[in-house]
Amino acid sequence: MITRRSFCKKSLLIAGGLAVPLAALELFDPRKLLAEKDQKGPRWVFLVDTRKCVGCGFCVKGCKVENEVPYDANVTRTWVERYVVTKDGKTHIDSPKGARDGFPEKGIDIGHGKLEEIRDEEIEKAFFVPKLCNQCDNPPCVQVCPVGATYQTADGVVLVDRKWCIGCGYCIMGCPYGVRFFHPVYHVAEKCNFCYHRITKGMQTACVDSCAFGARRVGNLRDPEDPVTKVIMTERVNVLKEEYGTKPQVFYLGLSKEVK
Ligand code: SF4
Ligand code: SF4
Repeated sequence: MITRRSFCKKSLLIAGGLAVPLAALELFDPRKLLAEKDQKGPRWVFLVDTRKCVGCGFCVKGCKVENEVPYDANVTRTWVERYVVTKDGKTHIDSPKGARDGFPEKGIDIGHGKLEEIRDEEIEKAFFVPKLCNQCDNPPCVQVCPVGATYQTADGVVLVDRKWCIGCGYCIMGCPYGVRFFHPVYHVAEKCNFCYHRITKGMQTACVDSCAFGARRVGNLRDPEDPVTKVIMTERVNVLKEEYGTKPQVFYLGLSKEVK
């Protein structure tokens, strides 16, 4: 049987560096990042520390309330995935309701209200991975929009203009990360925008403010003194699906090779 305590204990193993294969981590070229700081204005980036996430889901709740995503709808701008790797080499992943209410302790959610029970002694490692729009520097969602309703700002955030969106869904299909969805009330494309209305006023995103564990941070890559920039410049960070050439601007610490 899986317990939250055992998950956290195993997550700490990862934090200790035992469970993260070096092959899963890639070093970023600091010269490319240094070039960023010569340009004007902020360049918003995000840092997720998977070693700190405990899967409480407070970030998901905070995001829904802040960004008018109906609380009970099965869609969300950000979500948390739980990965349980068992000793037989299988990887089990769940994210019930995007982890809005955390995770069941008695097993992996396999849908339709059913749980797959996994005993503690079967578990190799377990951890949580928060996900959100990567605000890609080369965003395919922008390229496929036929009316220019989704666009990239000078400070690097990809936005959706609800007034221009015609609801064709091309961007939802074009995003390789599955972060876009139809807003159930407005019937237009919807996704995380790093709480643009907040960060441009000097505030944190709602999910960062909601996370008591420091697993999420937003930063300005053009400020060399920004603590997030310093981490990205000096530590081993990784991005999701780098092979797609989308140049994600959400960086991960402690990402394990099982994460897709
Ligand atoms: S993660 Fe998806 S929605 Fe976000 S910028 Fe990249 S392609 Fe677009
Ligand atoms: S609030 Fe923080 S610790 Fe809780 S699930 Fe979200 S990222 Fe993880």
